[in-house]
Order: sequence, then structure tokens, then C-alpha cells
Amino acid sequence: MDVDRHHGEPSNGPKPHDFLWFPDGNVVLATDTFLFKVHKSLLAVHSSVFRDMFELPNVGHGDPVPEHDNIGISQELYEGVPMIRLTGDKGEEVAHLLRAVFEPNYYRRDDNSTPLEVIVSLLLLSTKYDFNVVRKDIVLQISRQYPMDLHEYEALDNDFESLFGRNRLGCHFPLLSAALTAEVHVLLPCLYFACSDFSIEEIFLRTNSMSREDLRTLMVGRELLDNEVNAFIISLPERLRLSEPRIRCQNACLENAFFVNLNTFAHTNFENFTGRTIVKSCLFGSVCNWCHSALTRIIDDKREEIWNAIPSLFKFREWDVLEGELRDIVKS
Ligand SMILES: [Zn+2]
Repeated sequence: MDVDRHHGEPSNGPKPHDFLWFPDGNVVLATDTFLFKVHKSLLAVHSSVFRDMFELPNVGHGDPVPEHDNIGISQELYEGVPMIRLTGDKGEEVAHLLRAVFEPNYYRRDDNSTPLEVIVSLLLLSTKYDFNVVRKDIVLQISRQYPMDLHEYEALDNDFESLFGRNRLGCHFPLLSAALTAEVHVLLPCLYFACSDFSIEEIFLRTNSMSREDLRTLMVGRELLDNEVNAFIISLPERLRLSEPRIRCQNACLENAFFVNLNTFAHTNFENFTGRTIVKSCLFGSVCNWCHSALTRIIDDKREEIWNAIPSLFKFREWDVLEGELRDIVKS
């Protein structure tokens, strides 16, 4: 075998990483492409999985780490230093995680230009190896882009706004996939909601690697949401005729008003389902400002009610419970 004499690895094997190779490091982490020579003590401070690993009486016995049976420690040395093979992890992805730990300012949770692949790698690997601080930061950063409050969500929900090195639209599915793998429940309803706003064809194109059960959750939630919005839009003419008490002015002007073209809002996306848009596009007749605003408000109230039900449509607890869980993650 063609062996690199200096490092003792096959020449086509993983190579020492340019930055994450500290000469005084005391453990080598091996991936498919890179070797990382780092310090056990720093890894142990940041990661309970590595801490548990290093506390084992005989690092190198080849057994899985207790409670983490997908992380094995092989009995190997690399230039006299214990080597741990991180099987199943890509070198580039591990590099993102280690740089976030060892390199000041490599990752900052307020920097939304951080590339999506870095964000996804940090979420997945900080979860797998329990790098608590990194995980907390990344969950908080993503949650700020997908807030649980309707008005905060809307303020950010511009499909073509730049986010994580691409447009926002391109982030929804990769983030949903990562949040599902990392089991970050607090992020899931908003991400499911964001992904439900695509056509069925587009959803199937973008969910090749999603499990059948998760895809079912997405499609069922999407259908329930669509049903809720449609049922309300269909009821609008009747509401007008019955003149809800909330929209009965002195002139009873809504009695002669009517809706047209409501079918253009059938199966509309949630973004277009607003009182302002519907009243502006579909309400005809001489309607006073007061009735106009009252009707707009009724539609927006219903919209907020449907938003409040979104977690349950995707089989999660209510927003306030999820917000509490998010606070607990940030405090942990
Ligand atoms: Zn009126």
C-alpha cells in the first residue's frame, strides 16, 4: 500500500486539516477526508459525549460509548496519539463544528450570512456529540428566523430575502430535514409550515430523503391548513348576509355589499390570506370605512386563530409550550 511516511496514512486517506492540526494536540479525530489533531480537554469542556469518551478507563477498547452506540472508539494511535474514528461524519462537516469551537468568530449566532451548510452541520453534529453551547446558539439562531409569533414570522417571510448564503425559500427544506434528524421539536412546526407552502410536486422533489412518516406529517398538516383557510373563505358571503354584530354599522351598508371572485382565494397560500388582500380584491358595494375595517379585522382574527392552531395541525403542542421549551434550551 502506498503509505504517506510522514503521517503513516495511505496517501489517498484522510489528510491533516490545515487549521485544526495543533502540534501539541493530544487526540486525533479521523473522518473520511480530514484528520484533526486537537485537545481532549477543550473537546471535553464543550461536549459531554467526548467527555464521557475520555473518562472511559481504557480509551481504545473498541466498544461503543455508553448511550451513544453509533460512536465507536477504535484502538488506534496516530503518531503516538490516540485516534478516534468518527464514522459516518463527513470531514467538511466536522471541520465546521470544530472550527466553531476552536476558532474565535468562525461562527456567530447573529450572523445570518453564515452558509446554510455550516448551519446544518452545526445543528446535526452539535446534537450528535452534545456540544451544548453550539447547539443552543444554532437553535436560537434558526428560531429567530422562524419565529412562533405570526407578526414576527410575517416580518421575515420574504421568499427572496437573503438568508444563510441563499434565498430564504431555499432554506426551508434543508432546515426541516436537519431539525427532524436533530429532533429539535421547537423548530419543527414553523419549518413544516414553511415547507407546506410549496406545491405537492415541489414538496416531493425536495423531500427525497425524508422519512415516510415525516412526509405524512407534512402533507396531512398542509391539507388541514388548506381546509381551514378554504372553509373560512367559503363562509364569507354568508357572514356578510348574516351581518355579524361586529360589522353592523348604523347604515347597515354591508347588507348591499357582496363578494366576487372568492374562488381566486381557494387553496391560496397563507401569506395571501389576509383581511386586507381579500377585502380589497373581492368586496364590492358602497361600504363605509368602519365596516371595511371591521370586515378586514374579522378575516385577520380568523387568520390568527388558524396560525395558533398550526402546531396542532402538524401534531405538536401549542406555541406557548414550544416557546417555553425554547427558553429552556437557551437557559440550559
Ligand atoms: Zn358601514
